[in-house]
Amino acid sequence: MEKSNGQRVILFPLPLQGCINPMIQLAMILHSRGFSITVIHTRFNAPKPTSHPLFTFLEIPDGLSEAETRTHDVTLLLTRLNRSCESPFRDCLTKMLHSETEEDEKQRISCLIHDAQWIFTQPLAQSFNLPRVVLSTYKVSFFHGHFILPQLRRERLLSLQDSEQDDPVEEFPPLRKKDIPPILDEETELLDSYSDKILETTKTSSGLIFVSSCEELDQDSLRQARQDFKVPIYAIGPSHINFPAMSSSLFTPDETCIQWLDKQEDKSVIYLSFGSLANMSRSELIEIAWGLSNSDQPFLLVVRVGSVKDTEWIETIPEELMEKIKEKGKIVKWAPQQEVLKHRATGGFLTHNGWNSTVESVCEGVPMICLPFVWDQLLNARFVSDVWMVGIHLEGRIERNVIERAVRRLLLEPEGEVIRERMKHLMENVRRSVRQNGSAYRSLEHLVDRISSF
Ligand code: UDP
Repeated sequence: MEKSNGQRVILFPLPLQGCINPMIQLAMILHSRGFSITVIHTRFNAPKPTSHPLFTFLEIPDGLSEAETRTHDVTLLLTRLNRSCESPFRDCLTKMLHSETEEDEKQRISCLIHDAQWIFTQPLAQSFNLPRVVLSTYKVSFFHGHFILPQLRRERLLSLQDSEQDDPVEEFPPLRKKDIPPILDEETELLDSYSDKILETTKTSSGLIFVSSCEELDQDSLRQARQDFKVPIYAIGPSHINFPAMSSSLFTPDETCIQWLDKQEDKSVIYLSFGSLANMSRSELIEIAWGLSNSDQPFLLVVRVGSVKDTEWIETIPEELMEKIKEKGKIVKWAPQQEVLKHRATGGFLTHNGWNSTVESVCEGVPMICLPFVWDQLLNARFVSDVWMVGIHLEGRIERNVIERAVRRLLLEPEGEVIRERMKHLMENVRRSVRQNGSAYRSLEHLVDRISSF
């Protein structure tokens, strides 16, 4: 770390894996630039303070019951959290800003950086005269575009004719009309008022940070976002290249997959993971496992505990299929994903296209097979398959033949070679952006200057 600059930054991540990782990465970057770090976090999905001994962690109660923490409805979870955390967060901030320990006297609190989905922070920070910067963990195009969803919902019927399924959604490119129902398939009214609040909280902030985006991935939407939000925007790029987020993993990664990968041939393995939230049915798991096994390529399959509906883990996979899986595959509960993607043996990533997973794959030059489930995953997948053309889209078909075919196309056929070549170029561009004088590098410098000036 550079010498302390006498300034402290307060970070307030949303308690979801895909939101904690980018916030902790930002914390590591700012710490390396001399800022002291305080992370305020909920009891639910609390990060491990022991993994970051140089940061101060302050836990606030979140009021969630055990059952509420297990809900699969993310919007409901987030609106509940926003209701129950406002008052404990205010108490925590008040205590911090009014406590006068010896250390505090030497340090100035520069600003609060919070996830865009915490929507109660604006009046609070204002009452303390505390500058507030918003962090979005989405792709810029999704964050910028998703405020139009309530309007789309009002204007459109969700049932589509077969002939219009592939038509573009003019207001939200590069989505196709068939992508809209899974995006809008959420608690509608709740979501509409929630997204209005997110927009207001963003527009009244002192700046907006995109941790895993950069000009190379988001040029057009960055330009539009700058026009529309009218606050400084910092697209600081895939910072995990320099600051891996493994230490902020909420689950324990099974490191035996690396030894297993060591035994496989170069670019021969298909890695499958659907991130920390997506769920599948028992029959979907079985179709996926058959598809991977029948492809005859080695595969590493992550099945999160509790992610297969109505089962504990993989106990419903039939014996015959388990025998087949053992020949070529390995199943784990959670993988050290960034290490897996970096591994020379990994040749493809069958992914739900969460934004972190998508960018991690791009940064390692691993082409994808896209199986998005909900929300921003649908847009990210369209960028992968239709815009950058670095992956094959399954178009929602979780069928063994379709999966087997996609794996073979990607890993064994000339089409896969072309996709891999395109991915290599994209990877190089994105990696260049975080190097000295790259677009993300410069954006980070501006961010550091801005925070220092508060
Ligand atoms: N991840 C991991 N091991 C796994 C699956 C996921 O370390 O087995 C990490 C992955 O590297 C990424 C995050 O969890 O940083 C998932 O974020 P993403 O935005 O892709 O998906 P979400 O979990 O938010 O749906």
